[in-house]
Amino acid sequence: MSLEISSMRDGDALSRISPARQDEVGLNEQWARVRARLQAEVGEVEYRTWLKQVALAGVAGDEVTVILPTRFLRDWVNKEYGELITAFWQAENPAIRNVEIRTGTQTRGTAPSLAEASAPVQALAPAAAPAQPARPDSAAPLDQRFTFDTFVVGKPNEFAYACARRVAEAPATPGFNPLFLYGGVGLGKTHLMHAIAWELSNRGNGRAPASVAYMSAEKFMYRFINALRSQSTLEFKNELRSVDVLMIDDLQFLIGKDNTQEEFFHTFNALVDAGKQIVISADKSPSDLSGLEDRLRTRLGCGMVADLHATTFELRYSILEAKAQRAGVEVPAKVLEFLARKITTNNRELEGALNRLVAHANLFNRPLTMETAHEVLHDVLRAHDRKISIQEIQKKVSEHYNIRVSEMSSARRARNIARPRQIAMYLAKQLTSKSLPDIGRHFGDRDHTTVMHAVNRVTELIAQDVAFAEDVDLLRRTLES
Ligand code: ADP
Ligand code: MG
Repeated sequence: MSLEISSMRDGDALSRISPARQDEVGLNEQWARVRARLQAEVGEVEYRTWLKQVALAGVAGDEVTVILPTRFLRDWVNKEYGELITAFWQAENPAIRNVEIRTGTQTRGTAPSLAEASAPVQALAPAAAPAQPARPDSAAPLDQRFTFDTFVVGKPNEFAYACARRVAEAPATPGFNPLFLYGGVGLGKTHLMHAIAWELSNRGNGRAPASVAYMSAEKFMYRFINALRSQSTLEFKNELRSVDVLMIDDLQFLIGKDNTQEEFFHTFNALVDAGKQIVISADKSPSDLSGLEDRLRTRLGCGMVADLHATTFELRYSILEAKAQRAGVEVPAKVLEFLARKITTNNRELEGALNRLVAHANLFNRPLTMETAHEVLHDVLRAHDRKISIQEIQKKVSEHYNIRVSEMSSARRARNIARPRQIAMYLAKQLTSKSLPDIGRHFGDRDHTTVMHAVNRVTELIAQDVAFAEDVDLLRRTLES
């Protein structure tokens, strides 16, 4: 079964296709059934992403013509779903031998019933934003798991979360446009962006779903270059500028890509001027993104800038707890706590570790214990067992108390020097596997009893003085991260 692809300008279709030759009602019913079967076959998300926009243009002889609004969508649907569409049509109507997929929009003059039967082109589900990634290996532009429901809120991310919520509720509110989310790897930037997109796509209360284009900066560039190559930059521009919300993930990728930056800058301005919402993520704040053009940085910073901070133990624990519950696996609190303490780098690794435990538990149908956690995750845990050196501790503690590192080994006993030195000894005992005499040697050849005294004294002070305890804890955490 051959599938022809060609481009069709508005109006061309009708000169060739005469739906009047077919029983129109019957045709619409057939098309509705074909669509229902497609939906059942590929699932809701995929259907909404790619197939909802396919519209019936008409039937001529043994050939059905369906249309899509952009060339990219046409090519993608043809490649991925062409056979399926043809097969379902043939099952509906054995007279059909060929399905032609073209670009085009519904035109006036199309039989009204036909226009109704086809998916309205403007009703883009967010996942079916016109600006889909052009790289055909990314069929799932939005991750289903990344919703507001599954996002665990804690101190480090509550502000970013609130901003994201706000934008999802009322896009393009002054002061929130653009929304610029930044933070290190795995802290939830992409998750929040997808959550906004999902929310806007399922808007209730009689509000129409907004059309959202989400893509990484890398894909933005890839698409732009492709458009240049195929001389379709106008199409690319129009596509991007027709959305309600444009989201660009990992903007730092555009550093050094001057032409793409320029294009992005213009798109950005056009959308903001038209009252559309922009959401950006990056690994740094706009002012720290050196390498981006100044005028772009300025514009990026003039809406809401929200950063996602490094996770805390509490947040990591809550995330693990939520994910374990979602997975329906009972993970003892001790194991969760252990993971939350050990895997501090980012949430992605945390999740990966938990997934492995969950898979293990399901496979062997055994309850999870600390032993299994150690066994299953020994490689991950070893990687996180970063060796902290006494020198590092001395440096951090000196910095913190604003004294010279050399004082760690000096004989001076003034309180403002002796106390930080004791804290450093205490931390050396806690965070390294060095013996007391060994630690003593690093602190100006002090005796092991001096070290023991320091450890005891600091332990006492931690119990007595909350502020002191917090200070030491902060130092410990910075050293551990
Ligand atoms: P980023 O884009 O900042 O690098 P992601 O959004 O891809 O990070 O997050 C990495 C992983 O961690 C994802 O699986 C995401 O669902 C999860 N994650 C991050 N933050 C949270 C959170 N607060 N609650 C639940 N899951 C989270
Ligand atoms: Mg990301």
